[in-house]
Amino acid sequence: MARRVPPRHQNKPKVRIKVKIKKDDTVKVIAGRDRGKTGRVLQVDAEKGKVLIEGVSLVKRHTRPNPQKQIKGGIAERESPINVSNVLIVCPSCHKAVRMAHHTDTVAGGKSRRTRVCRKCGATLDRK
Ligand SMILES: [Zn+2]
Repeated sequence: MARRVPPRHQNKPKVRIKVKIKKDDTVKVIAGRDRGKTGRVLQVDAEKGKVLIEGVSLVKRHTRPNPQKQIKGGIAERESPINVSNVLIVCPSCHKAVRMAHHTDTVAGGKSRRTRVCRKCGATLDRK
């Protein structure tokens, strides 16, 4: 009897992509249809390595009216997630799209904390 091979999608190892972009970051799109646009990050999907950015990658959704659910019909514009590799963080102090570096600070008590810093000017990208 032939050995049962599980379908491909079940076989795939779950690789969590390191997403350095966080929610509410301002990012610039560097590739794709919306190249050059900047916007605020609304959502981060670490499993798929995708981010949802305000006003970027808009798609038109055609919706049917559903009076029971108070849904109006028509064409609505919604953002769709784009790959993290296509965006760069915008530094709040030098206003450039930059790659980020990590800086380890030692906080009182011997603990260390990693902060994201701008590679161009060294300003911290994390808000407290
Ligand atoms: Zn900077």
